[in-house]
Amino acid sequence: MLIGGDWVSAQSGKVFPSENPYVGKVWANVPDGGAEDIDAAVVAARSAFEGEWGALSAQARGKLMLRLGDLIAENAEEIARVESTDNGKLYKEMLAQAQYLPEWLYYFAGVADKFGGEVIPSERANFHIYTRHEPIGVIGAITPWNSPVLLLGFKLAPALAAGCTMVVKPSEHTPASTLRFAQLFEEAGFPPGVFNVVTGGRDAGEALSKHPGINKIAFTGSDVTGKRVMQAAAENFTRVTLELGGKSPNIVFEDADMEAAANGVIAGIFGATGQTCMAGSRLLVQSSIKEELLEKVAARAKTIKLGDPMDMATEMGPMATRPQFEKVMGIIDRAKSGGARFVSGGRASPDHDGFFIEATIVDDITADMEIAKDEIFGPVLSVLTFDTEEEAIQLANDTRFGLAAGIWTQSGQRGTRVAHKVRAGTVWINAYRVVAPNVPFGGFGHSGIGRENGFDAIRGYTETKAVWVELTGATRDPFNIG
Ligand code: NAD
Repeated sequence: MLIGGDWVSAQSGKVFPSENPYVGKVWANVPDGGAEDIDAAVVAARSAFEGEWGALSAQARGKLMLRLGDLIAENAEEIARVESTDNGKLYKEMLAQAQYLPEWLYYFAGVADKFGGEVIPSERANFHIYTRHEPIGVIGAITPWNSPVLLLGFKLAPALAAGCTMVVKPSEHTPASTLRFAQLFEEAGFPPGVFNVVTGGRDAGEALSKHPGINKIAFTGSDVTGKRVMQAAAENFTRVTLELGGKSPNIVFEDADMEAAANGVIAGIFGATGQTCMAGSRLLVQSSIKEELLEKVAARAKTIKLGDPMDMATEMGPMATRPQFEKVMGIIDRAKSGGARFVSGGRASPDHDGFFIEATIVDDITADMEIAKDEIFGPVLSVLTFDTEEEAIQLANDTRFGLAAGIWTQSGQRGTRVAHKVRAGTVWINAYRVVAPNVPFGGFGHSGIGRENGFDAIRGYTETKAVWVELTGATRDPFNIG
């Protein structure tokens, strides 16, 4: 683990195994960090924040970030290989993410010296009033297994731009790529303690969430864990950003370009084997085109190539862990007993060992069934039907989540009209699953609190301070604040 610029073992001496889910074998042993390691990392991050890092100008911070971006670009293939081995997702997808990640460093490096406060126009001539966005301090980042380094970058880039330091605890399922990333961070020449990594499980995450030395927790993971993190953070009024799960609707109207919509539905749910927070896991389709669309989507779903995540021709890899595989199969089995109709898939792949599940499309369900309501985090598409635009909006919003939505229509007016009524942090019209460093991303409702990316993100790593300067030396009425 990297703590204060030193590579260290867990103080307890314990390690835990990390499995390659494709072959089902342990491929790395990683320090099992605990509360005492979190403590040491927070001390190191605080000392960097108050010392060398805190003294750097925003421009100097930006230059280091540019160097880190270049190093990530140069090492993208290796990062992707480590990630794919650790989480079983496709090498080509992890590579695309690792190649895109430098853009976060470049964008926020540029923002670092341009994100300022403002002068507030005062109605009183004797006051000059301005705001400053000061770095919030030491950040605790907790990341999930599905896109470890990209989701770390979503937090780290704006945090560094704001002037913060960080302790990250990656998922116990995929700790390796964050450790490799930390080597690049060191190579970029940042002062020691700016970025610290403690690998470990739930105990380390809990210790970080409740640590009084942490000023903000930036968490990505499930809604269940997010709630625990928020409860722990409440103890010290630690700020939180929570990027949680979803049950996002992909809404297809009868005036949609049917080929494009079918492709978007496939990309939305079967990309990354459905293991993404923004998966378009509910297909809401207008009844007049339902048969036509389902036929197209099912035909493509049946040709999806399952296999070795390292093979560039593979389209869907395995579930990342055995518990996740068992969870998804359980949901499928319960839907079967509940009378659902399986248009495609609905079983573990008979052609593969390991945790492979076929691309699954489920029809004849009701909105109150588990399969239509809960996040599955697997390759399972639930189909619901509507007749009118109002019904589509009502179905889309009939969820506790609100991360993303897709709308497929060739009417610009309908697209924007529906987009404004859907309660979700991101709405794509005639597209699905696109993100960028300059576009805010986050959820409504149980999908989270706060936003990553764009100016919203850097704002979230600062405290706003208002400074009032009395210009004339006039004496004020001591009993009147106005
Ligand atoms: P998870 O909630 O199980 O774990 C996330 C992290 O929290 C891990 O590092 C884990 O060790 C840690 N953790 C576990 N218990 C903790 C506790 N009590 N206190 C503090 N930390 C604790 O999530 P996961 O299975 O790794 O990831 C999948 C989930 O992440 C899905 O729900 C998915 O939707 C969500 N996700 C969201 C986004 C987004 O941007 N909104 C992106 C990717 C994934």
